Amino acid sequence: MDGLDRVPFNVVPNPAPTPAAERAKLVAAPGFGRVFTDHMVTIRYAEGKGWHDARVEARRPLTLDPATAVLHYAQEIFEGLKAYRTPSGGAAMFRPDANARRFRQSAERLAMAPLPEGLFVESLRRLVEADREWIPAVDVGTLYLRPFMIADDVFLGVKPSATYLYMVIASPVGAYFKNGADGVTVWVAQQDTRAARGGTGAAKCGGNYAASLQAQAEAVRNGCDQVVFLDAIERRKIEELGGMNVCFVFADGSLQTPPLDGTILPGITRDSILRLARDSGMTVREEAYTLDQWKADAASGRLTEVFACGTAAVITPIGRIRSPEGEFIAGAAGPAGGPVTQRLRKQLVDIQTGRSADPYGWVHSVC
Ligand SMILES: *Cc1c(COP(=O)(O)O)cnc(C)c1O
Repeated sequence: MDGLDRVPFNVVPNPAPTPAAERAKLVAAPGFGRVFTDHMVTIRYAEGKGWHDARVEARRPLTLDPATAVLHYAQEIFEGLKAYRTPSGGAAMFRPDANARRFRQSAERLAMAPLPEGLFVESLRRLVEADREWIPAVDVGTLYLRPFMIADDVFLGVKPSATYLYMVIASPVGAYFKNGADGVTVWVAQQDTRAARGGTGAAKCGGNYAASLQAQAEAVRNGCDQVVFLDAIERRKIEELGGMNVCFVFADGSLQTPPLDGTILPGITRDSILRLARDSGMTVREEAYTLDQWKADAASGRLTEVFACGTAAVITPIGRIRSPEGEFIAGAAGPAGGPVTQRLRKQLVDIQTGRSADPYGWVHSVC
């Protein structure tokens, strides 16, 4: 840790927090991403001054000059992670240090000021402490934390901003359950790709999402839940969904996922699952896998299960693949997924929620 990690926080509790009865109602059935807590974190950066003015205060709208850089050139990055209510009534976060590292790497790719990793983790801890009453009960859901950073220089010249605003907001979210027995149906993106070598595919930036939305809308028009992107060069290799990584489980007990070659996002859920799979004796391959191979292996029975993984939904079975050429069942175990998907999901969620031991040091208790 360098000195920059120790920016003092000014904590000013919200003078008019949500009444307890209303909060209890919201937290009991939160849905996803529409309910927000009473506080937020802000930290500012200026060239020559560094990181300063760290605050925890009442959540409120921003006032931005119309010439604010992010509104024009999209220097924006974000993270997503969850705080869990632990069985003893405390709170814990899952691998916030991994999010801190990825946030710094995203900042570097977008020529933004990197936030010291210790300061990132501290900012999350401060917000969870301030809003701890907003964490849903263990079986209801979690508190989703959204750290993000924008270029807030008021200047229309094209160059990296000289000032940045880092913020964290929090939103209670329900446990994600896809209704019905089947997994999600994914649409193969036809025209659009998500990222190319040398692009921003490995950075968690809003621009990647903007670029994925047209294909996601195409998926929905075709009756699918999600879109799966192919590589930008050959249009054959599976990359990932708009916001989740993909894993393939084979009849021989091995697991395969596309490699981190700069075009996909290095998911922390992906990384955790690979670790759990390896430690349970599975062979894990980080190798490219083509759509044609997927179709052939699902038909032959060599491929049994396919799932998508990411913080929001943890692990979701992929049930069916659809494209203009037709549709096929993702794996021989059937559209509802199978035992390996279920086992990995349970193992991961049990560690996250403190129901089972954490031999990896992944869980950080907060308060
Ligand atoms: C955030 C994200 C993921 C999943 O990452 P986690 O750290 O597991 O939440 C996967 N793909 C994309 C494009 C993402 O933005």
